Amino acid sequence: MSAYMQHKDLSKEDLPTERGREIADGVHRVMERMAEAEAAAGRRPGDVRLLAATKTRDVGEIMAAIDAGVRLIGENRPQEVTAKFEGLTRQCAQRQLALGQRQGPGSVAGPSSCIGFHLIGQLQSNKINKILPCVDTVESVDSLELADKLGKRAQARGLSVGVLLEVNESGEAAKSGCSPDEAEELAYRIAGTEGLSLRGLMTIGAHVDDERTIRRGFAHLRGLRDRVRDSGEAGTDSCRELSMGMTGDMAYAIAEGSTIVRVGAAIFGKRAFI
Ligand SMILES: *Cc1c(COP(=O)(O)O)cnc(C)c1O
Repeated sequence: MSAYMQHKDLSKEDLPTERGREIADGVHRVMERMAEAEAAAGRRPGDVRLLAATKTRDVGEIMAAIDAGVRLIGENRPQEVTAKFEGLTRQCAQRQLALGQRQGPGSVAGPSSCIGFHLIGQLQSNKINKILPCVDTVESVDSLELADKLGKRAQARGLSVGVLLEVNESGEAAKSGCSPDEAEELAYRIAGTEGLSLRGLMTIGAHVDDERTIRRGFAHLRGLRDRVRDSGEAGTDSCRELSMGMTGDMAYAIAEGSTIVRVGAAIFGKRAFI
């Protein structure tokens, strides 16, 4: 358990009106920035989906983002997923929204009434069973070992879980993600793993100021996605998503073909912890 989890009740559902308005303004501003970046890149409006990165935010804050139009949320820590899941599910149900539903046969809700729930941070194998009933997609799969375990546990529950392969494009030592050299082969192995559905690739932009360096990593991920998707290998048709771009670099990511931007600070404000 991280220290900040002892300072804040993440399951709290009520929210001061003023804070709700602040978050709604944040969502609208980000959506405008996304629309501008789409237009500047000659992309269709709505090409890019907004994922609200909700680490350290409580249920009330997350629902304010959903009420402002967010349809995809992402958590970093399995403990935060489980701390918030019940409250989020109940609040979503009151609005006739379904949280974390897998698309496809058996899914009850249409896309506009579905709130996607992704895990975007590291997953240790002893936490797999805890998060499987909650999230529909794990964006942070970066090894065959994790993919195998996740696939086996999903299969045992009769589920197919969406997976993005996380690639460490910048090569920064502090970052998770597989190396770009091994990514293509790993993607084929994941695509062929029972219980998993390879949905695309994910990366965290280089932690530098230089636009060219940041964009080079994003462009490389896009090339990799194109190769995997067009490879003809089993299970690669569904490899379409490029989850890249955050508060500081989302315009670059959208210019390089991002389909999901993961945004925290620009929606909710600066984090008090981590
Ligand atoms: C926190 C986080 C984000 C969002 O970062 P901001 O700078 O707050 O927009 C995106 N992706 C991951 C994996 C994160 O942990």
